Amino acid sequence: MKRNYHTHSKLCGHAFGDIEEYIIEAIKKEMTTLGISDHTPYPGNAFDERMPFECFKGYVETVCKLKEKYKDKIDILLGVEAEYYPAYAGYYESLKEIYKLDYLILGQHFFQTNKWNIVNCFVNVSDSEEYISYAKSCVEAMNTGLYIYMAHPDLIFRNNIIPDYNTSKAMDIIIDAAVKNDYILELNANGFRKGKRNLAEGERYEYPYDEFWKLASEAKIRTIIGSDCHRPEFVCDEYVKMAEEFAENKGIHLLEGLEIG
Ligand SMILES: [Zn+2]
Ligand SMILES: [Zn+2]
Repeated sequence: MKRNYHTHSKLCGHAFGDIEEYIIEAIKKEMTTLGISDHTPYPGNAFDERMPFECFKGYVETVCKLKEKYKDKIDILLGVEAEYYPAYAGYYESLKEIYKLDYLILGQHFFQTNKWNIVNCFVNVSDSEEYISYAKSCVEAMNTGLYIYMAHPDLIFRNNIIPDYNTSKAMDIIIDAAVKNDYILELNANGFRKGKRNLAEGERYEYPYDEFWKLASEAKIRTIIGSDCHRPEFVCDEYVKMAEEFAENKGIHLLEGLEIG
């Protein structure tokens, strides 16, 4: 991998290392582009494990300074990974404009099922009906045009639910929307990094979800690998390699990089 757009830092509270350490690692691995995309802050720090809002200005300044410092060695891009909550649509837009972000990537770790209910992909999904709500929220996010791609589109299928009609339907909704919008989906190396787990169908990776990527491959979805590194040494590690092999074996239409700026 020469280009990665999905990189975190200790600012979000659950990753390790300074931004510069990730850049140094990327240079060591002879990468040509590193996009920094830590978890976006929210006003009033409304969600856990996101960069504190008061750190955001410093984050932007740091990335811009490092962009300049390393410009002869590597292209550094300024981004964030953000969920899509309709209520925050204007907020994401203004972040992008005010701070001149190079890009946003979509990470639906949480999604809204209705006005009052927010579902966390990591903790409280017990009914496959939620898969449909997730898929619909993804499509809504794609349609905003705010995001350059969707990270781990298959994240929700990490849950311990026996695949059923809703599982297939949710996958179809996401894939169909990606085809319709010529949308780029991310094959996430961090899912491999987390290892296998015993789930309803037996032992498997929570994500990337095999069934999803079979469909994505058939639909010739443009795909990019995201390291989603939460430690500097993970920027371009063996799990990125694993993702590359996975893509090759499945005949996935892999992009080497994105056009940004
Ligand atoms: Zn994270
Ligand atoms: Zn991420």
